[in-house]
Amino acid sequence: MRVLAVDDDPMTLMIVRGVVEAAGHECLTASDGNEGWDLVRSGAVEVVISDWRMPGMDGLELCRRIRAGGGRYTYIVLATSRTDGAQVLEGMLAGADDYLTKPLDLADLRVRLIAAERVTALHAKLADQQAELERLNVELAATARIDPLTGLRNRRALAEDLPRLLARCERHGHELSAVMLDVDHFKAYNDHFGHPAGDETLRRVAGVVLSAGRQADLFYRYGGEEFLCLFPQGTPAAVAAAERLRREVHALGLGHPGSSHGVVTLSAGVSTWSRGGAVTQEALLAGADAALYEAKADGRNAVRATQAGTPAPA
Ligand code: GH3
Ligand code: MG
Ligand code: MG
Repeated sequence: MRVLAVDDDPMTLMIVRGVVEAAGHECLTASDGNEGWDLVRSGAVEVVISDWRMPGMDGLELCRRIRAGGGRYTYIVLATSRTDGAQVLEGMLAGADDYLTKPLDLADLRVRLIAAERVTALHAKLADQQAELERLNVELAATARIDPLTGLRNRRALAEDLPRLLARCERHGHELSAVMLDVDHFKAYNDHFGHPAGDETLRRVAGVVLSAGRQADLFYRYGGEEFLCLFPQGTPAAVAAAERLRREVHALGLGHPGSSHGVVTLSAGVSTWSRGGAVTQEALLAGADAALYEAKADGRNAVRATQAGTPAPA
């Protein structure tokens, strides 16, 4: 441990240093409260053994400053010639963990150091556990927003992202397009190849969706075989992006006996929110869904778009 001895009497400092070092600890010294406070503030100290009465800042004030400071716990022992119980209580109330009476008894000082070491180790362990908990919380918050099968963001993430994104687009006067994608005849694919093969195909399709991403675009697994992309762009750009995804999934050439195209394909519906359009996020998603159903009705492996929730051909 790193121990700081604070006393205006050089002889006392020498005695404390002797005991501290003999116990295997490092000892810093300061000749008054101000000098001690500077060392504590620099973060280098775990235990303070301080005299009460000193010129400038006294031990009581040093105690209060340390306790008000927060951060890593500093164990404080107040050494004083005052043996009056009420004054000892005042010291403890100011933040001291323990006290010593002067003249110093070396065995007493050694005993205080053992207690200080235990408490300091406990606080260090607690701080480590706290840091680990915080790290795990951050990790958990991230994994709770990721779909484990595809690695895309999930509905929980979408529920958080969409209002924020809409607000940002409103502020900057950008449009926001939602592209709802759905794998065609996927039930038949599962029925033919089995669920594990279906899972692998979903991963492949998600891979195409992800690789099409630019930084400002957000991709989600919306449902079982449904994906949602958000583009801070208008309808033409979003339709072009959806068309690219449709082509790329088709080009994967994943055989699908239940499809008239012979391979796995996607259908997509595009809906766009414009500034001042008074369209809610629900209407934006409903618009994309309506357009998707049009694409399905028109034979699948197709992209269709709506404007402000009203279906219109792309
Ligand atoms: P459509 O072209 O009209 O979209 O037909 P579809 O068969 O794709 O649509 P439907 O909604 O009838 O079926 C969706 C299928 O997607 C059924 C379900 O078993 C499958 N599915 C959903 N989630 C998963 C998943 O995580 N893994 C696998 N393998 N299949 C899934
Ligand atoms: Mg489908
Ligand atoms: Mg579906």
